[in-house]
Amino acid sequence: MSAPTAAPVAHTESMFHAVLARLDAAAKAMNLSDDVAQVLRYPQKLVKVCFPVTMDNGSMQMFEGYRCVHSTHLGPSKGGIRYAMDVNEDEVKTLAAWMSFKCAVANLPYGGGKGGVKCDPRKLSVGELERITRAYAKAMRDVFGVNKDVPAPDMGTSGREMAWILDELNKVHGEDVPGLVTGKPIVLGGSLGRDAATGRGVMVSTFAALKKMGLDPKKVSVAVQGFGNVGSHTARLLHEHGVKICAIGDHTATFWNEKGIDITAALAYAKKNGGVLKGFTGGTEIKSGELLTAKVDVLIPAALQNVITEDNAGNIQAKLIVEGANGPTTAEADPILQDKKIIVVPDILANGGGVTVSYFEWVQNKMGYYWTEKEVNEKHDLSMETAFEHVWNNAQEFKTTMRLGAYITALKKIEQGVKMKGFY
Ligand code: GLU
Repeated sequence: MSAPTAAPVAHTESMFHAVLARLDAAAKAMNLSDDVAQVLRYPQKLVKVCFPVTMDNGSMQMFEGYRCVHSTHLGPSKGGIRYAMDVNEDEVKTLAAWMSFKCAVANLPYGGGKGGVKCDPRKLSVGELERITRAYAKAMRDVFGVNKDVPAPDMGTSGREMAWILDELNKVHGEDVPGLVTGKPIVLGGSLGRDAATGRGVMVSTFAALKKMGLDPKKVSVAVQGFGNVGSHTARLLHEHGVKICAIGDHTATFWNEKGIDITAALAYAKKNGGVLKGFTGGTEIKSGELLTAKVDVLIPAALQNVITEDNAGNIQAKLIVEGANGPTTAEADPILQDKKIIVVPDILANGGGVTVSYFEWVQNKMGYYWTEKEVNEKHDLSMETAFEHVWNNAQEFKTTMRLGAYITALKKIEQGVKMKGFY
């Protein structure tokens, strides 16, 4: 399970404003129609549910769950479900909007959605998590649908939760529809390659950016923040491709090794150590914040939102930032990074590999025929490389950052969908 990797963030109340700030900037740069910009400033649907769950000690506890559908102009809404204590309305709205842009950048036939349950999965037993997940899925039965709104894993959830959601929805609907959920275990119709897909997309984006910068991947040093699903697969894949990772860290500990960390050893250590890095001996322990400002060429924040802020952006030494997490950089930090000429491959491009393979899973479920891992990876890599090129070209054409280039790429497509579907 990809556990949350740090304490709750402080900036959540401003998250949706950060989306709007970037939306406005891109809209202005590309001359987006005001009507379309207005449509995208509001989520289409925002559902909050409260449900009771029996805890292991026999007591009853109430839980809050959310699902936001930001847009359905290009297809059914798509996006994960996160379990964390800071899940709230503003956060799901923000993350749902990012999914709309992410799916459009990746050229997928989807709109954007996101959901979550306010809970701390680390403090719950497997039985409690199962009851919470089933109760949430049942409460959201009218929101989710194979051609309507398709959930997937996110922070704090994994294939295990998706299996429970699928089972619960199948019971409610009285038929087996595997494409109702993606990120499922393979035996239930999951796709080969889905588990590592987000990390794989981060790797493909990193290589594509390094190529544009004229840097040899074998000669750069990298720091990866986060060792959950995204961070650990990113670090593993880069390591397997001969890239030197000098810093890794999770919510328990952070390590530095100038000669390069043995990621295979770190993964084996975490596996035996409850999934966390604390106690790992393959590097010197440093403070978590030091990873972000470490002397490396490439920084990959792959843990939480709002970690690169106006307070630390000025001290970042990396030439390239590849955003594995959703929203790791605040809107205030963007101009500081731009002034420093740091290239930022934004989240809505860099971490699109996960939802891309979710789409492949959905397609395979609809066909009832399954591809090999090699086929999935090849399609994924091509899709990510194409998305990278589109964003890069838009950034060049509009003389702007890759972040705004990504928003422009997305908005060009969504604009057509909004206009063609029209208004009342
Ligand atoms: N939660 C992932 C994301 O933020 C995956 C979403 C999906 O596969 O639908 O991109």
